[in-house]
Amino acid sequence: MQSSIAPVPGTGALERYEPVIGMEVHVQLRTASKMFCGCSTAYDGAAPNSHTCPVCLGLPGALPVINRRAVELVLAAGAAFGAQTPERTRWDRKNYFYPDLPKGYQISQFDLPLAAAGSIAIDTSGGPVTVGITRAHLEEDTARLVHVAGSDGRRVSLVDFNRSGVPLMEIVTEPDLRTAEQARRYAEELQLLLRTIGASDAEMERGQMRVEANVSLRPRGREAFGTKVEVKNMNSFRSVERAITFEIERQAAALDAGGEIVMETRGWSDDRAETYRMRAKETSDDYRYFPEPDLPPLRIDEAWLARIRAALPELPATRRARYRDDLGLRAYDAGVLAADPDATRLFEATLAVRAGLDPTTVANWVTGEYLRVRNAAAAGEALAADPAELAALIALVADGSISRANAKEVFEAHLVTGDGVAAIVAAKGLRQISDADALGEIVDRIVAANPAAVEDIRAGRAQAIGFLVGQVMKETRGQANAAVVQAALRARLANDGAGEGDG
Ligand code: ADP
Ligand code: ZN
Ligand code: MG
Repeated sequence: MQSSIAPVPGTGALERYEPVIGMEVHVQLRTASKMFCGCSTAYDGAAPNSHTCPVCLGLPGALPVINRRAVELVLAAGAAFGAQTPERTRWDRKNYFYPDLPKGYQISQFDLPLAAAGSIAIDTSGGPVTVGITRAHLEEDTARLVHVAGSDGRRVSLVDFNRSGVPLMEIVTEPDLRTAEQARRYAEELQLLLRTIGASDAEMERGQMRVEANVSLRPRGREAFGTKVEVKNMNSFRSVERAITFEIERQAAALDAGGEIVMETRGWSDDRAETYRMRAKETSDDYRYFPEPDLPPLRIDEAWLARIRAALPELPATRRARYRDDLGLRAYDAGVLAADPDATRLFEATLAVRAGLDPTTVANWVTGEYLRVRNAAAAGEALAADPAELAALIALVADGSISRANAKEVFEAHLVTGDGVAAIVAAKGLRQISDADALGEIVDRIVAANPAAVEDIRAGRAQAIGFLVGQVMKETRGQANAAVVQAALRARLANDGAGEGDG
């Protein structure tokens, strides 16, 4: 039987099968208080169970109150997805038991999500892709289980309720994605969008954004979807791409061997670089959803929605298009700038602070130097990045006062120390020497001291001129204007045939 030959992972799987991927992402919303009580969400570093009350502990008789801000953030996300908002919605109970869920149910939204039928556009190596957003709804986070060794050495599980009741938005896509890269790009773009509108900090490593991928395969050319597997526990964008790639190969090998894919939930292990079975997948029937009796239905006022829409900042896709089309940036640079809020701010503010700056030049400083220094800086280290100083520096390079290489050094010093560009240039003695007379003297000295190089040039080996330029640079500690030095050298060597023996 052919199927006894196990295919080597990665070879040919994508020729025989087309992956189908849909994403389910939970994000913690950026609110001051929890979803249904007044407890603070600023519990990072706080003692366990110090941010709790009868509501988020699930004590009998405690009644929930809706967090208006959380609803607004989901409505804003819906507006950013171009989604539909219902006039009326309600809350539903999703019933299940787990030690991190004190009420025995989660207050969620079932058939009337706050946002439905939107989309997100992403750029991928294979071109642009539009990902349908099926729905985004609001619910509450669970508590956190902490597994430790007890005093008698046995494993015990402790419950920390600080996270219990934090507002969560769940965003579900259509099964529109076809590659692991598209899935990673979707997650990255969603994070950027949510940060841009201030809905969430969406830090994956801190559990503020939890990404699950539903993955199935179908033979190429077939329309019907295959059985999907849900993959979770991916806590970086890289893990999202690796986990889906692994899962595609695992399913292809199983199908090739004549096996069947079982509908299940699998976890991703970064260390072992594989997915593993966690449990059979629950279906929505298992949750016995019913309307939440402790909360009134929610009416979404048209004027309220209009205010939320009007307050939306420029969205990443619009920003990229503006950088490209209006400012003439390369698509790649537009993407890099728009993907990083700090870079975006520095770029925009620098252009605003001084008229007439070339956007591409500013973009190069921000994507090249600023991001290089920022990404190399220790976590938590604040950089100065004063737009007026960057603008001043660009002007110094443009008028020849400072070399480009030295300007990079000055910019880094500014970012790290916060000192002004002019002061750094003065302190480091980096002002470029463009004065032809001053450089002429140095050129004379270098020519006299390097007869062999002069001989080489006369013999037609023009590269030797670079050596002499380098000597002038060394003498001036990089301050000489290279173009002026080149010109002076050429003039000396052309006119002054008897230069040797002068000194
Ligand atoms: P469930 O009821 O199992 O949660 P849903 O219909 O709610 O299933 O879909 C959950 C996610 O799985 C969505 O993102 C959806 O796009 C995706 N999905 C649905 N069917 C498939 C499939 N056959 N292959 C891959 N993803 C799928
Ligand atoms: Zn509380
Ligand atoms: Mg579902």
